[in-house]
Amino acid sequence: HSSMLRWGPPQTRLSCSSSPDLEKPPHSMLRHLTSKIKSTGPISVAEYMREVLTNPVTGYYVRNNMLGPDGDFITSPEISQIFGELLGVWIISEWMGAGRPKQLQLVELGPGKGSLASDILRVFSQLQSVLGEASVSLHLVEVSPTLSQLQAQNLTGNTSQEADSEDEPVYRRGKTTAGLPVCWYRRLDDVPTGFSVFVAHEFFDALPIHKFQRTEKGWREVMVDIDPEKPDHLRFVVTPSPTLASSTLVQADERRDHVEVCAEGGVIIQQLVRRITEDGGAALIADYGHDGTKTDTFRAFKGHQLHDVLASPGTADLTADVDFSYLRRMAGGGVACMGPVTQRTFLKNMGIDTRLQVLLRNCTDPNTRKQLISSYDMLTNRAKMGERFLFFSVLHQSRLAKPKKQDGLSLEKKKIPAQLPVAGFTELSFS
Ligand code: SAH
Repeated sequence: HSSMLRWGPPQTRLSCSSSPDLEKPPHSMLRHLTSKIKSTGPISVAEYMREVLTNPVTGYYVRNNMLGPDGDFITSPEISQIFGELLGVWIISEWMGAGRPKQLQLVELGPGKGSLASDILRVFSQLQSVLGEASVSLHLVEVSPTLSQLQAQNLTGNTSQEADSEDEPVYRRGKTTAGLPVCWYRRLDDVPTGFSVFVAHEFFDALPIHKFQRTEKGWREVMVDIDPEKPDHLRFVVTPSPTLASSTLVQADERRDHVEVCAEGGVIIQQLVRRITEDGGAALIADYGHDGTKTDTFRAFKGHQLHDVLASPGTADLTADVDFSYLRRMAGGGVACMGPVTQRTFLKNMGIDTRLQVLLRNCTDPNTRKQLISSYDMLTNRAKMGERFLFFSVLHQSRLAKPKKQDGLSLEKKKIPAQLPVAGFTELSFS
């Protein structure tokens, strides 16, 4: 099969085969949605997306292993180990910037196959001398039982254990091969408090969005309804009057004619902000997105091809670009936000070129060398993932605070220690 990357322009193709799981049409999802619409009327796009992706029985993420060359899409951590390694360095740098707290919780939202966490932890063990006595633990927020098993396999080599009862906040726990504790949760709320660095890669784009259309009568919400001509088909409709969402989620000074708002993403950002403010830490969010400029980005991918978002729901991945300006607004003024900067800029600032050279120096196999170079190109090339993907960070207010000016005149100029720059968002200079 010739297949398209989820983020990519139509001409970017990878060779992939589609997952056999997805060939079975799960009509049960369509039936579930049509009976819901019949009983309560058209549903919001957010509800449609939430049901299709994370319904506990038939949801797309719950049933499938969609990641990688054999799935529906491929992501940066799956393309190259360098990606996770550089994020590992970023996390350690932020831990140092916070004054090396004794506890470091690494919390990943939507960890996919667990590759990113695994690459980050490898860097942690290589930099053990830097981390010293800090007690490190891994916390994974994942709704999909199928993916959590795959993560457990990759990170703990199948030594993890499922909780006895379904309503335990920690539904699985184990130890990594290096002996670090790992816990799995369905919701961020269940993760224990404490100094944490949060990582979310291609997580926010999977959260449900509301869609709004500007009309002559004002903002109206776009909903999903049954097509009256074809009862087995769904179609978009625009509500005749405002909905609660359309009257609360659209900005008063909005200039676009169509907007997508991910209210759930806003809630998660606020939870992160509260934790970072109260317990210290940082969040790194990487996804494809824009800074409040794009309009209609809701789309579906199946077998690496673009797919009709309303056709055979549950068999295709649904996604929308992340609006970073909305996340920044929801974060509020109590924290410091950095970015978004492009993936290319972030990875170059993190030293991807040097890392590539080191790996190439230690590698003689021509195929591996070729693969290292092509995956570097995939991640950083402006026409590939380099500019479509953006990095955004939420930091504790004190992280960027200017050192206080010293009172009074002192003849002897004291050197005030400068803050450690935030890696990735500024070019690091070694002087
Ligand atoms: N970060 C990984 C996977 C991205 S796919 C990578 O970059 O390769 C999205 C991930 O988020 C999957 O693991 C999916 O199961 C998870 N996910 C989607 N919606 C979620 C939600 N509402 N709560 C928790 N996890 C969710």
